[in-house]
Amino acid sequence: MRIFVPPYDAEVIERIKREDGVIIGKTNMDEFAMGSSTETSYFGPTRNPWNLSRVPGGSSGGSAACIATDEAVLALGTDTGGSIRCPASYCSVVGLKPTYGLVSRYGLIAYANSLEQIGPMAKDVYDCALFLTVIAGHDSKDGTSVNAAPKDYTKFLKDNVEGFKIGVPREFFGEGTSDAVKKQVWSGIHKLEELGAVYEETSLPSLEHSLAAYYIVAMSEASSNLARYDGLRYGYRVDKDEGNWATVYSQNRRIGFGAEVRRRIILGTYALSAGYYNKYYLKALKVRTLIRRNFEEAFKKFDVLIGPTMPFPPFKIGEKIKDPLALYMSDVDTVSANLAGLPAISVPCGFTNGLPIGMQIMAPPLREDLTLQAAYAFEQNTPYKNRKPTVN
Ligand code: GLN
Repeated sequence: MRIFVPPYDAEVIERIKREDGVIIGKTNMDEFAMGSSTETSYFGPTRNPWNLSRVPGGSSGGSAACIATDEAVLALGTDTGGSIRCPASYCSVVGLKPTYGLVSRYGLIAYANSLEQIGPMAKDVYDCALFLTVIAGHDSKDGTSVNAAPKDYTKFLKDNVEGFKIGVPREFFGEGTSDAVKKQVWSGIHKLEELGAVYEETSLPSLEHSLAAYYIVAMSEASSNLARYDGLRYGYRVDKDEGNWATVYSQNRRIGFGAEVRRRIILGTYALSAGYYNKYYLKALKVRTLIRRNFEEAFKKFDVLIGPTMPFPPFKIGEKIKDPLALYMSDVDTVSANLAGLPAISVPCGFTNGLPIGMQIMAPPLREDLTLQAAYAFEQNTPYKNRKPTVN
């Protein structure tokens, strides 16, 4: 097997090394970060440390699993539609998707540029805040990097949420949400109420279309980003490449990508093609604007919005991989934060039949401090942080 060794470090890696962080390895993930279970990985799936027959979530499943099993104290993930929060939830660790532009993406292979962020994954909220402090900050090498004043995120951690106004969007508890998840997340919200917050149920009607809009935008951008993988100037090239340009090109792309990646390139190309662009891509962008406006309205009233990270607990390896739509459905509660560019954290919120459940806390752009404070208060007053999986 030929392994690609990058000729330079990504900006986040440089920042970690500058603060004396030690990089001990790379972890498993879905191919090109496309997936929610790590089952699309070229190297095979990662198993969930809490139950080895279950998925650890994805796409950053290896990162979450290695934190849950104490193989590493910190790990990075990228989150285009949930890939930090989903595995954090499924492995009972903490994962934060920062505001769009807060963390430099220089050196990251792009899946869908307008949606994704690199972010911290850790065993607890303090470590997550500390890690974010190290990797966040303006970088002139990333054109989408925001020039916000640096913050020490550990300074915001308090063990109460006195005065917090919490909105609970009904759409986050929609069809397909398991009863166990509803019950645990609601008990989490009541815990925060005990710790000083007030909550109110609310509605963000356009969230109903977030999954559809997300997959059109993500696949369209992916199809364009992966065009450079032609095996001629860039990317995997088959050993025996006889024939004309078209044969060689299509051979490289057929063999160089897994089935899920090929599916997305094909669907994304279709959504962007003449005659369909208005019907799919442009429409998805309009829905995206509506979603963003719904959030802006909600944040006039609430400090944070809370719901489940994942609609159901970790599923069995192999259960959904043959049914792409069923797998995409698991992202229903995470993708809206990416469409709107908001910070969102997943914090451990309990178990059902030994399987972890995560609670998601979203805040307005650049208010990572609010997500971290609420998550920290919750973590300090619940027993979930101390539970460890027993894996041999
Ligand atoms: N599961 C989502 C997808 O497959 C999100 C992946 C991600 O955030 N990288 O697109």
